[in-house]
Amino acid sequence: MNTLHHGFWTYVVLRNRKEAVKYAMVGSIFPDIVYYIMFLYILIFGDILTADAVNTIGWTGVIHDMAHALFAHPVVEVLRQAGHSIAVWAIVYCFVAYYKGWRINRWTGFLYGWLGHIVIDLLTHVEDAIPLFYPFSDLIIRGPISYWNPTYHGDVFSFINGILIIVAIIWLIIQKVNARSKRSL
Ligand SMILES: [Zn+2]
Repeated sequence: MNTLHHGFWTYVVLRNRKEAVKYAMVGSIFPDIVYYIMFLYILIFGDILTADAVNTIGWTGVIHDMAHALFAHPVVEVLRQAGHSIAVWAIVYCFVAYYKGWRINRWTGFLYGWLGHIVIDLLTHVEDAIPLFYPFSDLIIRGPISYWNPTYHGDVFSFINGILIIVAIIWLIIQKVNARSKRSL
């Protein structure tokens, strides 16, 4: 799923766990952070965005080439797979649970947010699915729908997800207003 949407839904689910929600939100966007850092890196050092390139292939061509370079970059390839691997997650979780316990706290909050990202991506990536047990196995489990590819209902998913986000925002606002009016009574 789209990185920002991961953060949003994690907030909705864990917003009442005040001690952990911030950390869970960071955890929920953590596997995708590499894309943004490396996109900036390619933008600055990649030599793809040049006046010449914009003149010959246009902005869409340049953006397309940059996205291509991003996903072909070895750093992105490794961190993308590691961040979306349930095996890597489980190893980190064992360490954290051993030292900090499994109950929700800052540390486990981060890890539960991260786990949510892996599970949601598992269900919403088809052709672009990632080996679930990287680096131990190449087994790829493809999700039933894609969050973007119309061939796998990506258009329906985006539409329904968009509506649910609007409904959730309205619901959150109503709750906030109600809580405030109760406090002022
Ligand atoms: Zn992801």
